[in-house]
Amino acid sequence: MKQKPKIIVVGSGIIGASIAFSCVSLGADVVVLEQNKLGGAASSNSFGWINASFAESPAYFELRNAAVNAFRNLKTELNLNGSVSWQGTLWWEDGGQELKKQFNNLLDRGYAAKLLNKNEIKNLEPNLKDVPDAAIFTPLEGAAEADRVALTMLAKITDGGGRVISGCKVEGLQFKKNRVSGVKTNIGKISCDMVVLATGADAQNGLLGCEWNLPMQNKKGLIVQTSPVPDLINHILMTNDVHFKQNVDGTLTAGEIFSGDFDENMLALDLASDVLSRISKKLNFSTNLIPTNIKIGVRPVPIDGFPVVGKIDGHKGVFVAVMHSGVTLAPLIGQLLAAEMLNTSKNPLLKPFRPSRFVN
Ligand SMILES: Cc1cc2nc3c(=O)[nH]c(=O)nc-3n(C[C@H](O)[C@H](O)[C@H](O)COP(=O)(O)OP(=O)(O)OC[C@H]3O[C@@H](n4cnc5c(N)ncnc54)[C@H](O)[C@@H]3O)c2cc1C
Repeated sequence: MKQKPKIIVVGSGIIGASIAFSCVSLGADVVVLEQNKLGGAASSNSFGWINASFAESPAYFELRNAAVNAFRNLKTELNLNGSVSWQGTLWWEDGGQELKKQFNNLLDRGYAAKLLNKNEIKNLEPNLKDVPDAAIFTPLEGAAEADRVALTMLAKITDGGGRVISGCKVEGLQFKKNRVSGVKTNIGKISCDMVVLATGADAQNGLLGCEWNLPMQNKKGLIVQTSPVPDLINHILMTNDVHFKQNVDGTLTAGEIFSGDFDENMLALDLASDVLSRISKKLNFSTNLIPTNIKIGVRPVPIDGFPVVGKIDGHKGVFVAVMHSGVTLAPLIGQLLAAEMLNTSKNPLLKPFRPSRFVN
């Protein structure tokens, strides 16, 4: 009988978990190695908006759009009702001509989107006090608690015979005849036929034995979680000065606007209070919003802003998957990369996002 290929996935965030899950489904012998807590770093500190609204190139839009559909299928397959919801988005981060431009862009791409006026917005969100003149409604979008999704996939990996090890830091890669043969870790060497680096923002640090570095422009972001409140909003709201959503358990998750930079000069607690007061001003809700978790995450962002997925040239058997919007992209990236690694198919959607565009 042919031996199963042994694959090590470095990183247990939503990207590593998804790749490992798909590799197990295709019959590989999989080990996930995580230096810290299972479920990932960025994935535990993410807003978790699943969307294809913002894509800086047509190819990136195609990838994101396919990814939203893949997430829909994954939710059904893994019964992710407690951690994924499809409530749609109302967007008015910009107004006036910029909003119209964004709307036309979505229409040109054939994306499900509607331009709403004040009354229509009010009907969809009756608790909104500060109603904008216009907003873009994108009904097919959703949100995920990314670390919980990752943990569900990790549990499926162990159910399927794979292994998931936390507290295991990969320090370097080992090669035999130019092909990867194992990894060096703080708990010893582990052999393998292939390695996937799904190390998120840490990818910029490189790894011993791998002469390839990914240039990155990682960015910090603040996320505030509140205690549960009565049903307040029905959609993901991306407003002019704050974005927020209500989770299945009634809690709110909020962050600063997406295009905004994290203000390093402000204390996290002050910034969190500021973010919550921006929400309070927008809603008819008299009780104070109580922050229960304030998180500062690091967004993994390759230097050109686009995902980096595929084999690393000159390092046989070594693959990488690092990206922002990794929550949106994870289920699709997992399927496509696993299929590629195990030679079942190579999808043209990934062509513009290969690591080979960074020569070093
Ligand atoms: C504030 C914020 C808001 C965001 N909002 C959105 C959003 O709305 N929608 C969206 O799609 N995306 C969003 N993102 C981005 C998204 O969260 C990330 O793209 C995604 O979580 C990346 O997942 P990952 O698995 O690659 O990384 P991570 O979750 O960071 O996982 C990488 C893991 O690798 C481990 N690791 C690293 N090096 C090693 C090593 N040498 N050995 C062992 N383990 C190692 C790390 O410990 C970590 O657990 C946001 C991110 C942030 C921070």
